[in-house]
Amino acid sequence: MMINELFYSLQGEGQLAGVPSVFIRVAGCPLRCRWCDTKYAWALDAGEVLTPEQIIEKISDYPTQFAVVTGGEPMVHEGIDELVGLLHKNDYHITIETAGIEYIAGLPVDLMSISPKLKNSLPSNAEQAIEYEQKRFQPEALKGLMKSYDYQLKFVVDTPNDIDEVADCLEQLEDVNPYKIYLTPQATEPKDYLEKSRWLADYCLQSGFAFSPRLQVMLWPGQKGK
Ligand code: SF4
Repeated sequence: MMINELFYSLQGEGQLAGVPSVFIRVAGCPLRCRWCDTKYAWALDAGEVLTPEQIIEKISDYPTQFAVVTGGEPMVHEGIDELVGLLHKNDYHITIETAGIEYIAGLPVDLMSISPKLKNSLPSNAEQAIEYEQKRFQPEALKGLMKSYDYQLKFVVDTPNDIDEVADCLEQLEDVNPYKIYLTPQATEPKDYLEKSRWLADYCLQSGFAFSPRLQVMLWPGQKGK
């Protein structure tokens, strides 16, 4: 697989926030989120080819059994099944971070961490926005993933106006366990993060949805490999 980077950090978001984890970032993503903080991993050739065995060897020195396969978009890559299979054989707890645009059955994954993309992710270029509007939200793939795996659904919320869209998405997905839903503020800088966190936290208290931190934004804003 084309691997963009391997690094050791704290999981920043969701139910495992704060857990020391090794991150395996796969190169290539078919989406173009406006606020994406890993644009350097968009291209399919943005990295080096490593076999699953080489990846295991490189990550085995880190003091953790938690592995996060992220991107880019790992679920669109051939070879994801071999990588996840070998991680599983080596007793890793495996999280896949995905936008939920592709369904694959039967991966030995412990947590499917799905972040469906709202309209706030669309590129500012109008032509590109039309193209990515078709791709960003795939209800059938999302339903398949939620049915087949232990999952969390993370929505990146930019303004209070996004809340209605989250409700629309949940309606389309049907039968979503409310305790698996996380809302997290869209921000790349601590000041912006804190401002948005305040109103989003209030909404989480009203709605019962969990607030997800973004530890990487607070602790290491803009730093690659964190
Ligand atoms: S899906 Fe993830 S990696 Fe791809 S553009 Fe969006 S935020 Fe970036």
